[in-house]
Amino acid sequence: MARYTGAVCKLCRREGSKLYLKGDRCYTDKCAVARRTYAPGQHGQSKKKMSGYGVQLREKQKVRRIYGILEKQFRSYFVEADRLKGVTGENLLRLLELRLDNVAYRMGFGESRAQARQLVRHGHFTVNGKKVNIPSYQVKLNDLVAVKAGSKNSEAFKALAENAAGRTAPQWLSVNAEMMEARVIALPVREDIDIPIEEHLIVELYSR
Ligand code: SF4
Repeated sequence: MARYTGAVCKLCRREGSKLYLKGDRCYTDKCAVARRTYAPGQHGQSKKKMSGYGVQLREKQKVRRIYGILEKQFRSYFVEADRLKGVTGENLLRLLELRLDNVAYRMGFGESRAQARQLVRHGHFTVNGKKVNIPSYQVKLNDLVAVKAGSKNSEAFKALAENAAGRTAPQWLSVNAEMMEARVIALPVREDIDIPIEEHLIVELYSR
């Protein structure tokens, strides 16, 4: 499964905002956005007014980068979001939130979505008792996501569970950090998704 493997701090600098792609480091003064407030590359420091298209494009790239998704798959999410009933932008964010790697991250397993994705890829999670190692797997209402029994006793997962206990899970997820599991008790609505994104710009971009 394809994923971006380049320098992630460059992505934040490109967007001009923190996308929190590196976990703890993002909260320190080592953060590249805090140290260099301009975009990467030769023309990074030139000041050009962005067009309407540019603003929409940047918003789409931001969401794509936060969730670690490549363009082709992101567009598929948009097509699906557009097909579903309701507000397309909110549908899109809901589909992204319900990815298994994001659910693992929201449960507190992984400092970043990239780390949570790796844990899923390595087969450490089950959904309703069955091992699932596909990061894009869509979790549904009432699904039970859990750390695989064989992984629960590892020192690494005990440390991750401790970390998970200190994190606040979103309202749509009922997390039992001690049991290393979580149930989807509601579908995420826009207010539950704490990402500073104007999703209507993405809808406008793809509707051009
Ligand atoms: Fe982005 Fe985190 Fe790197 Fe800062 S440290 S630039 S927030 S990934």
